[in-house]
Amino acid sequence: MLGLTVTGQRIDARRAVLECRVIDPDDCCHECGDRARSLGTQSRYLAHEPFGCRPTTLLVRVRRYQCEPCNRYWADDLRAAAEPRAKVSRGGLAWALKALVVDHLSVSRIAAGLGVAWNTANDAVLSEGHRQLINDPTRFHGVAVIGVDEHVWRHTRRGDNYVTVIIDLTPVRDKTGPARLLVAPRVSWRPG
Ligand SMILES: [Zn+2]
Repeated sequence: MLGLTVTGQRIDARRAVLECRVIDPDDCCHECGDRARSLGTQSRYLAHEPFGCRPTTLLVRVRRYQCEPCNRYWADDLRAAAEPRAKVSRGGLAWALKALVVDHLSVSRIAAGLGVAWNTANDAVLSEGHRQLINDPTRFHGVAVIGVDEHVWRHTRRGDNYVTVIIDLTPVRDKTGPARLLVAPRVSWRPG
């Protein structure tokens, strides 16, 4: 999963923490090819797909390395698990997008499911929708049936924010898989 292997877990009534390491340690110098010196680990926390109804956090022990002859420092490559500096894992993002588009969960519910702040969940869903869908030049290939869905994005005192999403129902019609989100949410505002 995500290039990580689980080395320990701590589960209580409220949350699950999975301790992980990168499967393939990046422990050779990319310059000279020699085995690097280990500088120990740093912890990185990533919100992940909920485990049952508990928010799940990945506690990744990221190993750090040094090559003295080349004067290089680096760390294990986590890009399979998460975008650089992201607070939510790729598994967590996939869960959140599906929760929004297919299960019609609100961003508040998604944030609670991930165990993160509303803004963190909102930013994560928007950027992942953009990354997966807008940047994918093949996203309209094989599309025959399109459904348009609209969600209340956020209730405010002055009105509701809506998002419009376009869903490709072709795989559902052909029974080849789940519906696909084609266009990332575009927020529009409507007075309440
Ligand atoms: Zn080196």
